[in-house]
Amino acid sequence: MIRYIFVTGGVLSSLGKGLAAASLAALLQARGYKVRLRKFEPYLNVDPGTMSPYQHGEVYVTEDGAETDLDLGHYERFTGVSCRQSDAVTTGRIYSDVIARERRGDYLGATVQVIPHITDAIKDCIRADLEPDLDFLICEVGGTVGDIESLPYLEAFRQFSNEEGSQRTLFIHLTLVPYIASAGELKTKPSQHSVKELLHLGIQPDILLCRCDRPIPQEAKYKLALFCNIKPECVIEALDVDTIYQVPICYSDAGLDIQVLRHFDLDAQNKPALHRWHSIVDCLHHPRQEVTIAVVGKYVALRDAYKSLIEALSHGGISQDVRVNIDWVDAEELEQTESEDAVLPAEKILKRLRNAHGILVPGGYGVRGTEGMIGAIRYAREHKVPYLGICFGMQLAMIEVARSLLDLKEASSTEFGSTPCPIVGLLTEWRKGEAYERRVAGGNLGGTMRLGSYECHLETNTLAHSIYGQKVICERHRHRYEVNIDYRPQFEKLGMIFSGLSPDGILPEMVELRDHPWFLGMQFHPELKSRPFEPHPVFKAFIAAAVKRGEETRHMRDTE
Ligand code: GLN
Repeated sequence: MIRYIFVTGGVLSSLGKGLAAASLAALLQARGYKVRLRKFEPYLNVDPGTMSPYQHGEVYVTEDGAETDLDLGHYERFTGVSCRQSDAVTTGRIYSDVIARERRGDYLGATVQVIPHITDAIKDCIRADLEPDLDFLICEVGGTVGDIESLPYLEAFRQFSNEEGSQRTLFIHLTLVPYIASAGELKTKPSQHSVKELLHLGIQPDILLCRCDRPIPQEAKYKLALFCNIKPECVIEALDVDTIYQVPICYSDAGLDIQVLRHFDLDAQNKPALHRWHSIVDCLHHPRQEVTIAVVGKYVALRDAYKSLIEALSHGGISQDVRVNIDWVDAEELEQTESEDAVLPAEKILKRLRNAHGILVPGGYGVRGTEGMIGAIRYAREHKVPYLGICFGMQLAMIEVARSLLDLKEASSTEFGSTPCPIVGLLTEWRKGEAYERRVAGGNLGGTMRLGSYECHLETNTLAHSIYGQKVICERHRHRYEVNIDYRPQFEKLGMIFSGLSPDGILPEMVELRDHPWFLGMQFHPELKSRPFEPHPVFKAFIAAAVKRGEETRHMRDTE
């Protein structure tokens, strides 16, 4: 029997609703239940694929190629369960489906309205694509209660709960209990108001999850229970923690899983199996040493744009028992501008990146900052610093090597404008012929995004193959441009190996440098598949190489 848990947010945004939902899922899993998570987004975009990273943070791509909210990344990392397109619902998608149905005449002349047509469509999305043996579906609604945009979702959840009954549905409301210094106490009023908003919409929350920076005194909990019409034991404290992997442990200590199970009349006698969470937190708190990875990118001011990358690096650290410190480097900072100082970019780069044990250029779009990234890649190549180039980072590595080693000074990507030397471009621009026609016929048209999981075949006796330990791998993609395979013979002559290719051999997927301790580029995004309990092999190997680099540089310094 599937039970449905709805997670809403109150008071303000950024309280970590996604993490709360993911942590509850992890706790239920730790008690042997099968869970799935689903996100309901109130915005009108059909998906976040078109939104700026500054607005929305990272776009998380699922195996089946859905472009989704970064919370789905937390869902996958915390539960290990791969999300699907059906787990990412947006108002934009709901409305476009309903309008398409209306145009087809499916509503038989009825006036199409928010209630019941939009709310019915939302309820269909809750029930869609669920495994029959699932125990819990956790539905998170984006935004904050009181927003106009989320009203249809809350109304649909209310109806759904009415239809299924309270023994199969549960509402959790996440709020903030702020400490007010001038009063010297934690304040419950914002939470009371937020619950009133929900009550106004016909939803009585069953559990109140209260974000706070210090323990909530018993009387404040009673007050919240009384005014919000909730059992005192269902007012759960959600204290600030210093690593996100501590959240499931804290929630369990505060009794969240027990209250959820009691609500559904399920056995709550045993303790959840949380040893693996404890060992991760332990490792993060007491690492054997530290490494510094310079991440050279364009959106470094906004860490949400690199959410999965940050986590994957930390997982790589867990695998080597080291703490990974990320040094965020704004790529534009590395470029020389006319007015500024007289320092040459190469010297600037040397100064800025000298302490990095590994350099990473992540995914990105557009020409801005690319010369800085290329400069950083040149530094990594020449100074033998471990280099990991992800998607854009691989494309730019090809451009750097073409310019420096192949002497193709005008090497570039057509993403930045027309070029006589398109090392990177759209498939349609440089590839014609039978194999290309086959791809187009298969729906994989260059010029649109390549999204989701694709197979890649690895060459034996390469770094890539030694990392994965298998010949065929599947990784997730999100890009438009491809490295031009026509340049392969020239690259290979100079020691750049094409170690991974698409099954038809047309698309370079992984490249590496022969005469370098660790220089690897990949067209896909390995960070999307890394899990705390299963660090991605690429990040494991990259961090191991950075640790080695750290030891070597320390040794060099000691003997100097
Ligand atoms: N801008 C590049 C492309 O579209 C790289 C994209 C990425 O890094 N995800 O191909």
